[in-house]
Amino acid sequence: MAMRIDGKAISAQIREEIKEATAAFVAEKGYAPGLAVVIVGEDPASQVYVRNKALACEQVGFYSEVHRLPAQTKQEELNALVDRLNADEKIHGILVQLPLPKHLDETEVLLRIDPSKDVDAFHPYNVGKIMIGDYDFLPCTPAGVMALLERSGIDPAGKNCVVIGRSNIVGKPMAMLLLHANGTVTICHSRTKNLAEVTREADILVVAIGRADFVGADMVKPGAVVIDVGMNRREDGKLTGDVNFEEVEPIASAITPVPGGVGPMTITMLLQNTLTAAKK
Ligand code: NAP
Repeated sequence: MAMRIDGKAISAQIREEIKEATAAFVAEKGYAPGLAVVIVGEDPASQVYVRNKALACEQVGFYSEVHRLPAQTKQEELNALVDRLNADEKIHGILVQLPLPKHLDETEVLLRIDPSKDVDAFHPYNVGKIMIGDYDFLPCTPAGVMALLERSGIDPAGKNCVVIGRSNIVGKPMAMLLLHANGTVTICHSRTKNLAEVTREADILVVAIGRADFVGADMVKPGAVVIDVGMNRREDGKLTGDVNFEEVEPIASAITPVPGGVGPMTITMLLQNTLTAAKK
């Protein structure tokens, strides 16, 4: 039976550390780290994420602002808000909640955020810094996976690491972080041939594709560490991952559940990035 990597507990522990570091920062500087979250439109999932981010800021002692803009907001208005936040000394981190309504250009907005306040690490400047291994911020989900591995005593050095998924926010940076940690990394995607053969070589398998229960026992080497980034809603409304947990848990050496694995780490890493930005 695999060790369950408890993302909730690890996340709570890191948030406690951030809270302590924040108290020390405020005592020294006389102001708190500040995060501004911008949300455009009424997407219900985004509303929940934004509420949780604001709440998390409050819990660790940050200053936070949520800017709720109507769905019909024009590009110039959104750009102007980002410009104001870039210049605002109270704000050290800016996050524009994605996806934006279709008529808005996400790339234009992300490029406009001052890279030193880009706590999502989506700006090409920060993406480039991650490539060369000299970074201030890491994208929150892959950073959360690395923290889970580290705090569970799992070292990727010299291991075969297979990442399924090559998105800019999860798969690609995930592969790069495992490489920086001296893993031997393979990236798989929808055009990968003989996927199961590749994944069965993995000592550490990270799955980020967005398909419920896609990875079964036949795709996993006995004793592998399995990290499930997927978040899928079943018809009954329950959250489930990309890994068939019942099948894989008995053969893996360690596994993250969904919910309660990678999910709780994402906002925690956002807090970490905001504190880093404030310290800079
Ligand atoms: P995405 O942009 O849709 O990318 C999915 C990736 O999976 C693509 O690279 C795609 O390949 C690959 N893929 C799809 N079907 C495949 C198949 N049958 N075989 C092999 N590869 C396949 O998704 P994402 O934004 O990276 O998110 C992935 C999952 O993680 C989603 O469930 C999402 O909800 C979840 N997520 C969770 C968190 C968290 O906080 N826990 C954060 C972000 C995302 P191609 O490139 O070839 O199309």
